[in-house]
Amino acid sequence: MPSDLLNTFRISIEDFYRSNKRSMPWRKQNPVPYEVWLSEVILQQTRVAQGIPYFNKILQAFPTIEDLANANEDHLLSLWTGLGYYNRARNLQKGAQQVMRNHKGELPKSSVDLIKITGIGPYTAAAISSICHGEKIGVVDGNVFRVLSRFFGVSTPVNTTAGLKEFQLLANEIVHLSNSSAGYNQGIMEFGALHCTPKKPLCMMCELADICTAYNSGKVDVLPVKKKTAKRTTEEIHFAVVTSENEIAMSKRGTKGIWAGLYEFPRLEKPPVKGFEAVDKIVHKLSHKDLHCHFWEVTENEMNESLTYYSKPEIRNLGMPIIIAKFVEKIGFQ
Ligand code: SF4
Repeated sequence: MPSDLLNTFRISIEDFYRSNKRSMPWRKQNPVPYEVWLSEVILQQTRVAQGIPYFNKILQAFPTIEDLANANEDHLLSLWTGLGYYNRARNLQKGAQQVMRNHKGELPKSSVDLIKITGIGPYTAAAISSICHGEKIGVVDGNVFRVLSRFFGVSTPVNTTAGLKEFQLLANEIVHLSNSSAGYNQGIMEFGALHCTPKKPLCMMCELADICTAYNSGKVDVLPVKKKTAKRTTEEIHFAVVTSENEIAMSKRGTKGIWAGLYEFPRLEKPPVKGFEAVDKIVHKLSHKDLHCHFWEVTENEMNESLTYYSKPEIRNLGMPIIIAKFVEKIGFQ
């Protein structure tokens, strides 16, 4: 890419950030690496407005990396309930334990060292090192893919190895022209989130419109390109809702799978009675499949396993998948 085009783009992005920067609890004059790490992990699959209350309550419960490393896993997962993708929370804690063990409680400064910590990938490593320590490395997330692909007209699919490499090189090239990696990197993410949005980007009032490849070639709606992935699947899950006085039976998932370590209702292999509807059926959409969750009212005698019951106050401290938490609330147990 011609360096004057890269430079014009960079300056415009940095100007945009200065004028449109949203206030967020982790955006400080001197950003705290632990807070930036926590915020980036929370925001990986979550909108900013939804993520901020989670950031605040998790930081309040675990103000330091040491607190997070020593946290009770059930407590951490209960605070995470509603955010989904619970492996993020488990990996965050594993990462904190590693930082305590190998780095005396301080996150390493360079992206090369950060990436060795459990749960920190190239994006999070680049975000922490550039925002907190000014490392000249580009962040590449969904917003960045979209903005770079549209402005520079890059049509390599973003979900391929070749695409990742090409966008990372381009992002690095631009950030090297900047005196503020933190300003540029946060600027391009903010520009993608607020201005060059997936649907209805604000092209008519965009300072870059005159020189934007996608805008001038009618390709705004087709960029960025994504390679088609495998078809979505469906899984039927039958839950047994067994209550006794003011308690309800819950069981903890094993150590594998998306809900590892979380609490749910005991599972049934099949519907307990033919020809009847479950008390409730909720469809829970994951990135790759739909879970059709059926909730059946069952008595303890109908179960083939011994059950563990929890009272209302105990249930409040259990980490649960959001779909289970919502049902528990619906039947008045939370
Ligand atoms: S002109 Fe439209 S597509 Fe191009 S950078 Fe601006 S908002 Fe994005």
